[in-house]
Amino acid sequence: MAGIQSLPLDIVKLMAAGEVIDSPAAVVRELAENAIDAGASRIIVTVRSQPWHIQVTDNGVGLSVADLRQAATSHSTSKLSAKADLWNIRSLGFRGEALHSLSRLSRLTLCSRPHGPESSGFCLTCDRTGRPLNVTPMAMAPGTRVEVADLFYPMPSRQSLADARQSQLRAMLQAVQHLALCHPTLTWQGELDERPWFTLWPGQSALHILPQVMRRLPVTDLREARQTVDLPEATGQLYLLLGLPDRCHRRRPDGLFVALNGRLVQLPDLTERLLAILRRSLPRDRYPVVFLHLQAPPQQVDWHRAPDKSRVFLQHSDRWHEAIAAAIDDTLRASQIERPAAAGHQRLTQLLKLAEPDSRYGATSPAADSDAAPLALRAIAQVHNRYILAEHPAGLCLIEQHIAHERVLYEELCDRWEIVDLETPIVLSDLTEAQVAQLQRIGLTVEAFGPQLWAVRTLPAPLQHRDDGDAALRELSLGGDLDSALVATACRTAIRNGTPLEITAMQQILDAWQRARKPQTCPHGRPICLTLNESSLARYFRRSWVIGKSHGLEP
Ligand SMILES: [Zn+2]
Repeated sequence: MAGIQSLPLDIVKLMAAGEVIDSPAAVVRELAENAIDAGASRIIVTVRSQPWHIQVTDNGVGLSVADLRQAATSHSTSKLSAKADLWNIRSLGFRGEALHSLSRLSRLTLCSRPHGPESSGFCLTCDRTGRPLNVTPMAMAPGTRVEVADLFYPMPSRQSLADARQSQLRAMLQAVQHLALCHPTLTWQGELDERPWFTLWPGQSALHILPQVMRRLPVTDLREARQTVDLPEATGQLYLLLGLPDRCHRRRPDGLFVALNGRLVQLPDLTERLLAILRRSLPRDRYPVVFLHLQAPPQQVDWHRAPDKSRVFLQHSDRWHEAIAAAIDDTLRASQIERPAAAGHQRLTQLLKLAEPDSRYGATSPAADSDAAPLALRAIAQVHNRYILAEHPAGLCLIEQHIAHERVLYEELCDRWEIVDLETPIVLSDLTEAQVAQLQRIGLTVEAFGPQLWAVRTLPAPLQHRDDGDAALRELSLGGDLDSALVATACRTAIRNGTPLEITAMQQILDAWQRARKPQTCPHGRPICLTLNESSLARYFRRSWVIGKSHGLEP
């Protein structure tokens, strides 16, 4: 092994520290996680950007002066490393690692005071190995304050990265927002270059945080669900916050958050599954608004995939996938018709442009509403041979007949795609190889019948007694997979707009549509139903104005 020289220990340790703290934003993330571990309910992030000076203050348990002396030493790290599985502990970070790394990469000051009437605060500065340089008494509120100055001064190559001011500030804010979603009961305050930067108010759940993170996302467009997940020898918890697909979707996947045990993570196969489940509820190339938080038993999680712990491995992912699909179905099924005071109102406001001073239901929580059973719809008329006008105890709805029916048929086909034999084959001409392959892929029997002629001997069941079999087959042959064939078949067989309908036929569509798993949108992502709630109508017609009994007001 001649020629290979081991690196000086000091450099090795510096590199290891740089793995944990790879950017100014990582400082904020690690210190904020420490504050959460300390049980803080309020976290203040103070940043000066030129040069970087980062300070995180919390009101958590605080450290005694003896613990404070140990907080950044490598000793506290190695003690934890000796454990068989470092991450088999429930905490997010652990004080030692991040603080010790910071002592190597910056000039670190720690101040802390435990709770309790007798306690007093102390402040210490650390040397490059995390040992205290000097300790002084300090008047301060209970909690901890960590100050990081001259970040990366021993690593000049990192300082250029630290110069990317805007992107680092964005990443810091994102780190805070992600933690806030996972820990919604905390209050966050940010100050940047001595000016107010951000505030995140606490809430009972992420339902109250996501609208603070994503602008123009009304809380009434969101639904939440919780589920217990059965796992081998343990149980997990699942929290789902979902934007209703007929109201919100995004051009980019920037409204898609997956968290595991209190921290945002990348679980690519789970995200893929999530997108697949919602694919036929959203328009093409649009992304859902989702926050998904899994609480898994620590022994079933492997965090050792990346130093920043963002990439993980989760055992029994199939169980989690099932639970996610079930939670999405429950959430969407339960919120098909709006209860009064839920989301329909805002939509109506936009549509009718109500000129009222403040007609928003600011703090109304739709959660309680979505727990209730859906309201039964009664068909009362058809409008323009296209819309079903329906009433329910809390208002009325306009439902587009074709796409409501299409949603019903699509879900039926997903459950049961049946191919039947034809008495007389349908002969098609001029198919490309790809078209023939697609017909075979969706399960049809296609045989060469002559030059440029093919005989199709089977057909999807819903298409069998129609006279447009050849047109239907041609359309199916142009799709890319089975799912697109299901959509095409549902669209072709659904009642067309322009078709006059009897009340009973409309009622049948409504009943079937109300049983759909994802009733908000058609398989192309178009909204199916417009709800006008009685409460909104009452407001629009100014029914609260008491003018006189002659206006037909109820007593
Ligand atoms: Zn259609």
